[in-house]
Amino acid sequence: MAVFVIDKRKKPLMPCSEKRARKLLESGRARVHRLVPFSIRITDREVSNSVLQPIKIKIDPGSKFTGIAVVRESESVDTETGKVCVKAHVLSLFELMHRGRQISEALTARRQMRRRRRANLRYRAPRFLNRTKPEGWLAPSLQHRVDTTSAWVARIRRLAPVSGIAQELVRFDLQKIENPEIKGVEYQQGTLKGYEAREYLLEKWGRKCAYCGAKDTPLNLDHIHPKSKGGSDRIANLTLSCVPCNQKKGARPVETFLDNKPEVLRRVLAQAKRPLKDATAVNSTRWALFNALSGKGVPVITGSGGLTKYNRVQLGIPKTHALDAVCVGQADAVTNWKKPTLSIKATGRGSYQRTRLDAFGFPRGYLMREKRVQGFQTGDRVKAVVPEGKKTGSYVGRVAVRATGSFNIQTEQGVVQGISHRHCKIIQRADGYGYSQLNREGQLPAFLPQPAKPLQAARLGYPTEI
Ligand SMILES: [Zn+2]
Repeated sequence: MAVFVIDKRKKPLMPCSEKRARKLLESGRARVHRLVPFSIRITDREVSNSVLQPIKIKIDPGSKFTGIAVVRESESVDTETGKVCVKAHVLSLFELMHRGRQISEALTARRQMRRRRRANLRYRAPRFLNRTKPEGWLAPSLQHRVDTTSAWVARIRRLAPVSGIAQELVRFDLQKIENPEIKGVEYQQGTLKGYEAREYLLEKWGRKCAYCGAKDTPLNLDHIHPKSKGGSDRIANLTLSCVPCNQKKGARPVETFLDNKPEVLRRVLAQAKRPLKDATAVNSTRWALFNALSGKGVPVITGSGGLTKYNRVQLGIPKTHALDAVCVGQADAVTNWKKPTLSIKATGRGSYQRTRLDAFGFPRGYLMREKRVQGFQTGDRVKAVVPEGKKTGSYVGRVAVRATGSFNIQTEQGVVQGISHRHCKIIQRADGYGYSQLNREGQLPAFLPQPAKPLQAARLGYPTEI
């Protein structure tokens, strides 16, 4: 991972390598500014006029995970074709795990408990249609995705001199499906058209075989009116079919193939004619995110999911959330992508509600008024060194505080209970996220190499575990 660097006045500078960061720290010219993501602060100078190269944040928004990549881009012009090639050098990879599910469940639970408690108030006149939702309202679980993603973009922008943002906005580009000659060689050769069309068809036909409804199986593109009988390549004549159905159908027209299944035939023909009306309706949060990111001082460019997939396959890059983000928008070459991903899990900042409820919505117990105990708060990252007793050892992880001062620490190996606050030291304050590196415990595919040299922060007295 690249190390983020800021100057004395906290102005972002170009990220540097781990080796360089280590040298700066050892020579005393810099100090650790933040542990996760690892950032250092130059203490001896203000760098006002240093040369900054264009750094871009690339985002692949998803429902459960959002991939975020920080890349350094360089452009070169192909002398023969005159085409501008964009080369992306990967600096950092992040994977942001959302908690939309938990938010939605918590709100449902609260609603049901209130309903249960208030059911006794039968004398109260019902309140009816007395709420309006503002324009552009999103459900809290969806709004949270937009908020956390834009918060992380803002956070990265405080640590690196970002000059642009690229976001995957839609699954497929409708214009490119119908008019493949819009621009570029890929479109003329029809390869990228194929990617956009495939994404479109997957969406339109619900990712299953149109004839038998088989899911999670390799799907072929099938010409409803067969090509050999003069059927066209137009999108309305294409459907998805599993391999057995595709072979069984062969070059027969759909009417003969579905001779004895009239209702399936009717459905396929009707669905083929109906275009997928609003491709963006399924992507409401992506548009909300786009609006949230635009107008913040850096240009936001967008790409389609089809283009992302095309880039990823062309460059031979495996599919992970973060690496998908690297391939968003124009990316003709990608270097330095074999590196660990920082997994960021949205954990929230604890409960606002101070009453714990039982299954029926009645109070079961109460949380502390104060969130802080002995200067610690649930969610802080701590290092505990226990010198003696049953729990002797050193533990690093997320702390959960108790009023008694006896804490639990969630380490990567598991929970350690009953550690006294006297042994704990804060390494990073709670910020609503949990962190882990995705190259541990074989969480990354085996073909990805481990980083050559982990940051030897331990030598400098900083914990290596994050
Ligand atoms: Zn089938």
